[in-house]
Amino acid sequence: MPNLKNLSPPADGYRGRFAPSPTGPLHGGSLVAALGSWLDARKNQGKWLLRIEDLDTPRCIPGIDQEILRQLLACGLSWDEEPTWQSKHQERYQKALERLNALQTIYSCTCSRQTIANVLEAQGVITPRNQEIVYPGTCRPKEVQLNQGFSKQVSGTAWRLALPPDLTIEFEDLALGKQDQDLNREVGDFVLRRRDAVFTYQLAVVVDDADQGITHIVRGQDLLSNTARQIYLQNILGYPTPSYLHLPLVLDEHGEKLSKQTLASAIQTENEQQALHELRKAAIHLGLRNLPDGKAISIAEWLLAATQAWNRKVTFF
Ligand code: GLU
Ligand code: ZN
Repeated sequence: MPNLKNLSPPADGYRGRFAPSPTGPLHGGSLVAALGSWLDARKNQGKWLLRIEDLDTPRCIPGIDQEILRQLLACGLSWDEEPTWQSKHQERYQKALERLNALQTIYSCTCSRQTIANVLEAQGVITPRNQEIVYPGTCRPKEVQLNQGFSKQVSGTAWRLALPPDLTIEFEDLALGKQDQDLNREVGDFVLRRRDAVFTYQLAVVVDDADQGITHIVRGQDLLSNTARQIYLQNILGYPTPSYLHLPLVLDEHGEKLSKQTLASAIQTENEQQALHELRKAAIHLGLRNLPDGKAISIAEWLLAATQAWNRKVTFF
């Protein structure tokens, strides 16, 4: 643990996390999220947890979780509690879904992507690329009925959350300021368990953040548009809402977000020099200036300087 004298007072009982999906090794963009969340936890003398979000099995690549752990350790980003894997906690998500069912807030949906596309087309709704498809409510019953077949767990049926009308969620992002989202207009009744029985990111992340007592979420801006959904789920499940800080995205030369889909290359961490080079790039992206760049510095020393630089930051991005 580095010496953290002269830092501003830490947030009480800070618990942060990094939650990669094992769909590819860490790239420059995911390292920014890892480093940003790690620095914020260290600055606050808090805990930094690692959670592997491996529920979407068709997209996960076997063995990549171990590669991510190795990459993080090579960069000196060590975690404070045993890492967790979402695939080992299916019963947690099932319980949360059952609670929501008891609250009469979910309903089953058998629409395929194509059915939804057809309904939207017939309504003349055009969804721009990269924008959320707003579910048109095709399967939504007039009154969401208690136990409408939920216990049978019909396979081939998705479970959606029924949103009440006029649901605008407001929150303060520590970097971006006031945010709001009208969930009906921008998202619609969203899926909590998919037709292939996979619990969705929205449900699992909310259950785990609460279960692990996460107080601060620091992650990439690509996830900003999910936050209102997560806050609403926290509200109905009676969980506290953590604070949020969304980090600037790393874009490639075409202005696209670095991601596994755009085949972003893995960070190179075979030796200390390579790892330091990757860390420096991530730090520049986080707006950290005047960090040591001499060859003689160790990763631990560099991370300490970066923590102090993060602490001196008055405004984010
Ligand atoms: N597993 C998500 C991802 O890799 C991130 C989850 C989160 O930080 O909320 O995109
Ligand atoms: Zn449907």
